[in-house]
Amino acid sequence: MADRPPCRCLLRQADPDLEKIVADYVSSLPEDARVPDAEYRRRLALCESCPRLADGMCMDCGCYVEARAAKAALKCPALPPRWERYAGE
Ligand code: SF4
Repeated sequence: MADRPPCRCLLRQADPDLEKIVADYVSSLPEDARVPDAEYRRRLALCESCPRLADGMCMDCGCYVEARAAKAALKCPALPPRWERYAGE
């Protein structure tokens, strides 16, 4: 990835091998610590349209967004946040 400028894309487009590692990590999280699939997709769609996304990483916090967006207790680090902590449906 070092020989080109970063793209505004998720890991699944930028680095499928790393995306698999992150997906395995997300799957290992306790179910009650993860957001439902619909909320996960909503968060990732917001990240995909965010200028702070580069090669699957949030430039505000350094997290891979596919990992951060899975966690119910976390919110987007931007001010104001583009997505909030998940409080349930
Ligand atoms: S600032 Fe928020 S919306 Fe933007 S990439 Fe980071 S986590 Fe996603």
